Amino acid sequence: MIEIEKVFTKRAENGRPNVIAGPCSAESREQVLEMAKALAAMPDVVAMRAGLWKPRTRPGGFEGLGEAGIEWLKEAQATYGIPVITEVAKPSHVELMLKADIKLMWIGARTTVNPFLIEELAVAMEGTGVSLLVKNPVSQDLPLWLGAIERFRQHGVGHIGAIHRGFSTFLKGRYRNPPEWQIAIGFKNRMPEVPLYCDPSHIAGDRALVPMVSQMAMDLNYDGLMIESHPNPDAALSDAAQQLTPQSLAALLANLTIRKQHIGASSSELEVIRNEIDLIDKEIVAKLGQRFAKVEEIAVVKQAHNIQILQMERWQAIIEHSTELGAALGIDAALIRKVYEAIHVESIKMQEERINATNKAVSAEK
Ligand code: PEP
Ligand code: MN
Repeated sequence: MIEIEKVFTKRAENGRPNVIAGPCSAESREQVLEMAKALAAMPDVVAMRAGLWKPRTRPGGFEGLGEAGIEWLKEAQATYGIPVITEVAKPSHVELMLKADIKLMWIGARTTVNPFLIEELAVAMEGTGVSLLVKNPVSQDLPLWLGAIERFRQHGVGHIGAIHRGFSTFLKGRYRNPPEWQIAIGFKNRMPEVPLYCDPSHIAGDRALVPMVSQMAMDLNYDGLMIESHPNPDAALSDAAQQLTPQSLAALLANLTIRKQHIGASSSELEVIRNEIDLIDKEIVAKLGQRFAKVEEIAVVKQAHNIQILQMERWQAIIEHSTELGAALGIDAALIRKVYEAIHVESIKMQEERINATNKAVSAEK
């Protein structure tokens, strides 16, 4: 009997994470069995992943070995007693897995975005005993993620967990798929009972960053990690840059710091710092209020001189000065830009509202 309960267990306080590891794609019988053997010896590992059908963004890449790999997964599961999990993206994939009696599956980020497809998959899973992990959609859309899970629930899928794998962006920065941790925290708030895995491999896109992202997930109290690992990562047919050797995976897991969730009644240190943070937050909000009051003033002047609201050079100068100032304080330029973009959008909206209100008042007088 293959034990899949652990995949869906919430992490105990101070406990080790549930780890799902394995190659991005199943590539050969040898590769699958070699990985399964290595993973079976790691106590944190609760399942082995291996993709059979690979959703490739552009045509022409390695699209996975499909049905041919199912037998290898079955063999790995039977030989090493480790549950196997693969991505299903179409009802036909679900049927093939069920035919092979493999009932652990995940839904990929490019599938979660499509409610029609999710509905079809949920129908295909109804009454079959499938257990499922649902990745976040590629777009930064929490309701889409929650909605997919709700659809599977509606069709009676019993065990459901979630995987946070980051979000697509236009501008490429240090991460392949920036985590946007606040969305995953939102997920935890909305569905606290659902075990949440972090997929540091697809967030990072670079094996050097995988340990750091994994540690972050532990510090945010995720229940588990899904990490891509391959016997020879550089020769992998997909996602070569982000996969770890089994040795590096074992080292990563050994080096994770598992911190306590609660500090215990005796420490007042935390309270003191929290009070200081609260004060600073108040100041930030007060300063924002002052800044927006100035925006109201400038709107009046711009209107009096009949000039456009958006002054591009001025906006660029603000970003430049602020990122310079931020850099001197060790603040990431991308963060400063994000904060200022939000402020700028609001400022423009305020100025436009003000002009519209004055115009209305003028035409009412006429
Ligand atoms: C994968 O897990 O290999 C994969 C394709 O993931 P995602 O759906 O997160 O892109
Ligand atoms: Mn991958």
